[in-house]
Order: sequence, then C-alpha cells, then structure tokens
Amino acid sequence: MTDWHGKPYYSLDAFCKNVYHHKIYKIALNAHLTCPNRDGRLGLRGCIFCSAGGSGEFAVPVESADQWDVERQLQQGMTLFGQKNVGEEFIAYFQAYTNTYGPLSYLESIYRSALSHPKVRGISIATRPDCVEEPVIRLLTELKAQYPEKFIWVELGLQTIHESTATYLRRGYPLSVFEDAFARLSDAGIPVIVHLILGLPGENQEMILQSVKWVSDRKPFGVKLQLLHVLKNTDLATDYAEGKFKVLSQEAYLSLLAECIALLDPGIVIHRVTGDGRGTDLIAPDWSKNKKAVLNGLHHLLKEKNIRQGCRKEVNYDTGSPNAL
Ligand code: SF4
Repeated sequence: MTDWHGKPYYSLDAFCKNVYHHKIYKIALNAHLTCPNRDGRLGLRGCIFCSAGGSGEFAVPVESADQWDVERQLQQGMTLFGQKNVGEEFIAYFQAYTNTYGPLSYLESIYRSALSHPKVRGISIATRPDCVEEPVIRLLTELKAQYPEKFIWVELGLQTIHESTATYLRRGYPLSVFEDAFARLSDAGIPVIVHLILGLPGENQEMILQSVKWVSDRKPFGVKLQLLHVLKNTDLATDYAEGKFKVLSQEAYLSLLAECIALLDPGIVIHRVTGDGRGTDLIAPDWSKNKKAVLNGLHHLLKEKNIRQGCRKEVNYDTGSPNAL
C-alpha cells in the first residue's frame, strides 16, 4: 500500500517523500518561448483564460530573451525560497507558455541546463498536446538515458474532455490530439501530468466528473485539478464582467473537488488541488487567495465525508463519446 503520509489522497508531496525521501519544491521558469495559440499559428488571443504571461505567473521574472539563463533563474528561485527550510533539491518547472514549441536545439539546451544543475532532481515541462512531435519525444528519451538519476515529466493542458467547452476556451485541438500525444509519451516511458480546470463556464458537475473519470481511466502519472481563475486582461474576464457565467463558491468547489478525488484512481499523483493565480491579477474567486483555508477546508470535508482517493473510482460517468455531449 502506497504511503500517503496522512492525507486521504496521493499528493505530490507524498510521492516525493516516498521516492526521494524528502520534499522537493518547484521553481517555475520562463524559457521565453511562445505558444501556437498566441503567435498566429492557431490564433493570436490565446486560450480564453490565459494571462499575458502564458499561464506562467509564478515563473521567475525575466525582462528579455537575452536574460534567459536557466542557471540564473534557478539561482533566483532558490534565493526566493531562501529563508524557508525547503531542503536541497528542486523541480525545474518550465511553466510559462508552451515549452516544447521552439527550435529543437534551443529546447535541448534549456532542458540540459536544468538537468545538469546539481540541485535539480528533475524537470517538468508544461506544454500542449499538439506540440509534442516525434523529434521532441526522441530528445526527451535521449535525455532520460543520459540523466538516469533525474526525472523528466511532461504536463499536458487538457482542461476538459468536452468539445463544446474546448471551443469556448479556444483550446485549439480536439480530444483525439490529446489521446495521441498521451499514448506516444506513455509508450516512450515519459510520465504525463494532465491539467484539468474545474468550474469552466457551461460545465455542470456531471460534465466535470466525466472529464476526471476519463482521465483517471487512462492512469496518467499525475493530475492537476485547477480551480478556474478569472484573471485581469483576459477575454474570460470580459465574459465574467458581462455576467455570462459565475465562479464557484468555496463550498461548491470543495464539494466538487471531494467528488473528483473520490473518482480518481488511487495510483495517480495529485499535483494540485487548487489554483495558483497571482493575487494582483486575480479577479475571482477572491476566496481562493487563501490557499491554506482551501486546503484545510478540503481536508476537513474529506474526513467528514469519509472520502479517500479512488473510493468511488468504479462509478461509471462514461456516457460513450464525450463529443456527443
Ligand atoms: S496553450 Fe497555454 S500558453 Fe497557450 S494560450 Fe493556452 S493557456 Fe496560454
């Protein structure tokens, strides 16, 4: 039985303690890449919820491409952790924009810089499934062989399995593209973390649980369950201001999250159960700024409802093709 270190779900923290015997903190990086949904290949406006920083709000600030230096950003990130007792190892998290979308030689150089750092235990690469081409997978496979003591994870932004929502989000690819990328990464032995957003406009609880169940059935290495944040200067903020949708209350979110955890296969590592929107850019929901209260509320609710990850994983939410919904 896997040790969850006292929590009723398998957190990233517990995974790191089990495998590496201590906590490992993430340093979010900005590699000055772009995204096909922003550079014109697919679109110019990005996903409807995406901030100007390419969903990389917590990346170490960088002024220009010239300033990209993995060593320097990692050092800055370690200094920011500075006073806290955070241990000696870190995950280099390529967070901002699409981190497999660029010249292969550049991608190789940034991944290698991070992997070579003595305090980096591994790298986590956030990207889109339509930007995981074969040369990238070959590169990651080669790097895995060359740095056997380090890990390489890929984070795929899926957000939802429902095409109607994906169209509203301007996600820019159908579910089949995700399935294809996920299968190819899995075949190459590269652990995948899937991002889902809870509380998207137009989605009810059943639709959200269908997405969670669908992902759970594919048994990725990890999932991130992200509360929908409305950030300043996004088209989502305009729709929100026009009253086109409401954000979840804390109570509704926690109740939904508990159901998601109950559905998720117990072997899947839950990397996130809330959101990380930067306080100054966050329009709603305001309550999510108090992350500690959210986590305490979740743990309390899980205990009260006697929910452990996977306790309802056999519930069938699959109505056939999600595209038919
Ligand atoms: S794929 Fe990511 S970086 Fe690109 S627009 Fe969407 S959220 Fe932003």
